Amino acid sequence: MNQLELLWDYQQTDIRAEAVAKEIKRSPARQKLVKYRDYLLEQQNTIKRIEEEVATMQDRLEVLEDAVKLVEDQLANLVKKMENNDAENVEQAERYLSDAQRMMSNLNEYEAEIKRIRKDAQDRDRLQYDVKVRAARAKSEFDKLKTTYDEEYKQKNEELNRYKEELAQKAKGIEPGWLDKYNTIRHHAFPPLARLNGSQCTGCNMSLPSGVVKDVQSGKEVECETCGRLLTI
Ligand SMILES: [Zn+2]
Repeated sequence: MNQLELLWDYQQTDIRAEAVAKEIKRSPARQKLVKYRDYLLEQQNTIKRIEEEVATMQDRLEVLEDAVKLVEDQLANLVKKMENNDAENVEQAERYLSDAQRMMSNLNEYEAEIKRIRKDAQDRDRLQYDVKVRAARAKSEFDKLKTTYDEEYKQKNEELNRYKEELAQKAKGIEPGWLDKYNTIRHHAFPPLARLNGSQCTGCNMSLPSGVVKDVQSGKEVECETCGRLLTI
């Protein structure tokens, strides 16, 4: 066999190997697994976000509870002063009263905010629980599918490795220059070798000038000027 014939034979194995590689990549089980994985990541991110939000809420709750304690103490002091009739005059008594009203109103605001935060935190707890349940379900589906896929992948991969071994064997008979050319073309056109059908390139169906056809027929290294494939008869 000449170099082009050897390359053609090499290409037959390459086509089969490529088909198996594609089957592996396009396996429905694999695509489903990728979807499950993305979904799980999304759920994990949601859980993390909720945890951060709850932590922020807890910080705010602590601040509010301290503020409540402070105002309660101030209010108790003031009430004591009022009960003891400490006010020296009517203006001071009125000031005590307006201070007390302001403190009460602050307390109400703080307590309303505390209530709101506690409710939000509860909602988030529930949400987090739901997300965790959904994530656990997806994880169990993922694990089941993974077992099936692993077995499928193992078989396909063994098949692919057999073809790769065959390719390595066939490559031994081919001059490196021809193989390099083949691999370079392979990056943009697969399969890289195309036969002539009359004056047509079977890779892209374009007609070639008769001079080019003659060169191919004489075994010269010729690439199709349209698709760049290496031409052979
Ligand atoms: Zn072509």
